[in-house]
Amino acid sequence: SSTTKVWNFGAGPAAIPAEVLAKAQAEFLDFNNTGMSVLEISHRSKTFDNLLKKTKNDLRQLLNIPENYKILFMQGGGHTQFSAVVYNLVAAKRAKTGDYSWNPPVDYVITGSWSAKSVAEAKRLYANVNIAADAKVSGGGKFGSIPPRGEWKLSGPDAAYVYYCDNETINGVEFPYIPDIDPSVPLVCDMSSNILSRKFDVSKFGVIYAGAQKNVGPAGVTIVIVREDLLVDQPKTVAEHSAGSSGMLMTVPSMLDYKIMADTDSLYNTPPVFAVYMAGLVFDYLIARGGVQEIEKVNGQKAKLLYDYIDQSKIYQSHIDPKVRSRMNVPFRINPPELEAQFLAGAEALRMYQLKGHRSVGGLRASIYNAMTLEGVTALIDYMKAFEKKHSA
Ligand code: PLP
Repeated sequence: SSTTKVWNFGAGPAAIPAEVLAKAQAEFLDFNNTGMSVLEISHRSKTFDNLLKKTKNDLRQLLNIPENYKILFMQGGGHTQFSAVVYNLVAAKRAKTGDYSWNPPVDYVITGSWSAKSVAEAKRLYANVNIAADAKVSGGGKFGSIPPRGEWKLSGPDAAYVYYCDNETINGVEFPYIPDIDPSVPLVCDMSSNILSRKFDVSKFGVIYAGAQKNVGPAGVTIVIVREDLLVDQPKTVAEHSAGSSGMLMTVPSMLDYKIMADTDSLYNTPPVFAVYMAGLVFDYLIARGGVQEIEKVNGQKAKLLYDYIDQSKIYQSHIDPKVRSRMNVPFRINPPELEAQFLAGAEALRMYQLKGHRSVGGLRASIYNAMTLEGVTALIDYMKAFEKKHSA
């Protein structure tokens, strides 16, 4: 947080603005003159209902979400959505055609570890998974690029959906555009690590989801934005489910069912009240600062400063295609790599934390989400310069 002058470059759970934490602290014991903590009020109370409504309306305003989209607050993080997407959208496709024994293809574009993991989950649950493009294959064994749209092998209008991850948190690859696909096929997007960082057209999507613990707030709540026509009733028993007999994807478990969540206003069971409350405080904070379009400008400046410095440096290197570099997660290496441990130790001495790269890729990574200020990025670059000077003599 900026009050204690710790610069938290962690990928998630990530920094939360100090003002937001202070507000939560100030009203922790007595929420809205209830005499109770927000942790203690019933999720069926008028007080929580107001909180939920305001939080949704604020998100709708921030992202300009059209009326024909529902906002759901779900649990289980991004990983749970890897499964929920398959169940819900295959069911929606079957409902559309009335053919409940059909196993429509589902298309995936792999651009990094998270979309790859989502594919692995889809394959656990469902047999007709099509890899439309794989950046690791086209990139000669390494992530760091996005296969050109023209090379994707999509299934066409039969597909239940086309899936991609907008920002690959581990690999530092971010889509600079929304892929153009057959408009009759729902586009599904994992925006866990870049939602609310820039403006985008929600109406291009069937489903958008994001775990909260990067740009929104605490882990425990996952935002799901779903177009209403994709909400369908599912068979209530396995016996009614003709596809069940073929061993292919039966009725979705209730907690993962988008329609049940929409029908119950995300109150099917006890929601993660504190996480929803904290997300609401972050939305207040963003609105007070001019909304997504203003934070987008700062995010652009921060990323440009850091990449420009890395590109002209003699010891730091980015291995990501410059056209698709993430504005949120900046992986980089030091040449020689033996210096990386020293770099991290020196950073910690200056209270710059969590700059180590993900264990699966190594190296270094600066996550510079909404809560990281321009001042923090400048402090990091100053340190990088001093370190370079010391080690290139
Ligand atoms: N998707 C992306 C882009 C992520 O960065 C992460 C976590 O870092 C996940 C999904 C998984 O989220 P969770 O840990 O909430 O399941």
